[in-house]
Amino acid sequence: MIFSRQLLVLLFILACCPAPGFSAEVEIKKSKLDIPQDIVKSLQIRVSLGQEKPKVVLSTQTPFKVFDGEGRLLFQGSQIEKTAVFAQEGQIFLGRQSFKRLPLVLDSGKSVLQLDQRTYRDILEFSMLPDGRLLIVNELDLEDYLRGVLPWEANPGWKPEALKAQAVASRTYALFKMIENRGESFAVSSDVISQVYGGVTLEKTSTNQAIDATEGQILVYKGKIFPAFFHSTCGGHTTRAENAWPIEPHPSLRGGSCGFCNESPHYRWKVSLTEQELRTVLKKMGYNVTSILKLSAKDIDESGRARFFEIKYPAGKIKIPANDFRLAVSPMKMKSVFLRQITHEGHTFTLAGRGWGHGVGLCQYGIKKMAELGYTYRQILEYYYPGSEIRVLAAPELG
Ligand SMILES: [Zn+2]
Repeated sequence: MIFSRQLLVLLFILACCPAPGFSAEVEIKKSKLDIPQDIVKSLQIRVSLGQEKPKVVLSTQTPFKVFDGEGRLLFQGSQIEKTAVFAQEGQIFLGRQSFKRLPLVLDSGKSVLQLDQRTYRDILEFSMLPDGRLLIVNELDLEDYLRGVLPWEANPGWKPEALKAQAVASRTYALFKMIENRGESFAVSSDVISQVYGGVTLEKTSTNQAIDATEGQILVYKGKIFPAFFHSTCGGHTTRAENAWPIEPHPSLRGGSCGFCNESPHYRWKVSLTEQELRTVLKKMGYNVTSILKLSAKDIDESGRARFFEIKYPAGKIKIPANDFRLAVSPMKMKSVFLRQITHEGHTFTLAGRGWGHGVGLCQYGIKKMAELGYTYRQILEYYYPGSEIRVLAAPELG
């Protein structure tokens, strides 16, 4: 009887608290997709500009139109002076006017709109999340979107072949997300979760030239598009996509040695974290731990990266997927899961590691060096995405 009760309790615990990192419900995402005809025809991308701000300030110096959620023209004008936009009681306010039929769509007619300190092309769409916060989406041409990505994701001072390689990788990644997130309210976000996008504000001639020189070019593997992941610095070896996330293995994302990024400022790094900081991180992840006896990297893959972290505490131990733990600590502090050493002194854990980022696909400091050494962008892309080919989006075989 006692045994049965214990068993029932155990079953209840297992049902409520699946072992961290081993959840059977994790969806394995496809690593390659067909390109639908309608996406190729329009090539408009929807970018979420963040969902945190309760209020933004909008303005434009050029003619504009405002539509409601059913596509009806509400009004048009020649300019908008600085006007607050915010959500309240199920409506969106544009200055003193309120709108119920959402989203509220502002079309600049292929011109630009200012939102707070930044400038965006084409269309801004305002809607509301279930919790009442404002959701702002910028809808624009994919090539124009890239103009707002490259200055952030690459250094505009890098050699043209490095910028071209980044342009093709960023275009491929964005298009993959447009297909993967069809039917969602946006395809990508404007932060590091997708790729950083800052609108027109920081566009640069060098990065715009790289985008124009590779217009419409994407990477495919056996005719299918795949998510061309990239990261800052691999630290000497890239890793398999399926080691970093729940994604199907892909031949072009299988990792390999990189001999080009050792001049990166992120090639080697060290960070110290107090036990208190780690406890706070663990609490945020749902684990209440009184003290930490040991932190170790586990299941090291062939690139040298940990797939899990194990935390020993007085009452037992927990195993957490390494990338989740890194992001919870802070990707700026714990730059990678490619660890060389973890030391523990007093109440401080010191981690020494290599590289910055998830380590999948293209290594940005690696492409910088390859371009300096005279490699072409096609050679660079073949090096980091083995077996991939460049196709131009308008090509009939992709239609
Ligand atoms: Zn590298």
